[in-house]
Parts: sequence; structure tokens; C-alpha cells
Amino acid sequence: MADCLFCKIIAKEIPSNIVYEDERCLAFRDIEPQAPVHVLIIPKEHIASALQLNEGNADIVAHIFIVAAHIARQEGIADGGFRLVNNCGVDGGQTVGHLHFHLLGGRNLGWPPG
Ligand code: 5GP
Ligand code: ZN
Repeated sequence: MADCLFCKIIAKEIPSNIVYEDERCLAFRDIEPQAPVHVLIIPKEHIASALQLNEGNADIVAHIFIVAAHIARQEGIADGGFRLVNNCGVDGGQTVGHLHFHLLGGRNLGWPPG
């Protein structure tokens, strides 16, 4: 999608620090990390938010969870534990309109979130 920040990152029009890439998804470090490890995992297909998931496109979510576990091992946070978060909509804290999952780890994250 033309005006989407994350589509531009996928197209490499905007640089990012990529930690994993395959034909269906891209993972790169968050520009404003909230934990020692903070990676964003996104589908290459433009999906605006979790509200736009349906039976036809939701397979990517399972794939992203498998990729998240792979990256957690790669980043050395699998044993310590991590959080995989999707923010949806204004109250959910979503600021970029392209579905993404935050992989956070490397410190005790606390609960409940703010
Ligand atoms: P949200 O608030 O929508 O759940 O998450 C969007 C995330 O994207 C934020 O954590 C923010 O720091 C990150 N972000 C925004 N712009 C950029 C960018 O240009 N590059 C990278 N790597 N991350 C970004
Ligand atoms: Zn997009």
C-alpha cells in the first residue's frame, strides 16, 4: 500500500535493522525499543490491523508465532521468556496501520501492561 510506513520498510524504501525475512513476513528492530530485545514482526501482505483478519488471510498469524519463537531463540530470550503483543486500534495503542506483533524480551516485563 502506497502510504504505509511498514509497506515501505518491506520494499526497502525505508531502511530497517532486519533480523529475519522470508517470503511471507519481515522482522526488524523497533526504532524506539521498550526492552533489550524489541523486534517487530509483520506480514508482507498489507493487513491494516487484527480486525482485518479472516479465514482467508489469518494463516500468517500462525506463521508469525512460529517465526517469533525462532527469533526468540536467535536473540537468546527463549529460555528467559518473552512477550508477543499486538496493539489494535486507538485504545490498544496501535500507531501504524499495518498488522504487526511486538516481540519483547530481555527483562522482566511486568503485568498488567499500562
Ligand atoms: P504500535 O504502536 O502501532 O503497536 O507499534 C508501532 C511501532 O513501530 C512502535 O513501537 C514504533 O516505535 C515503531 N516504529 C515507528 N516507526 C518506525 C520506523 O520507521 N522504523 C522502525 N524500525 N520502527 C518504527
Ligand atoms: Zn502496509
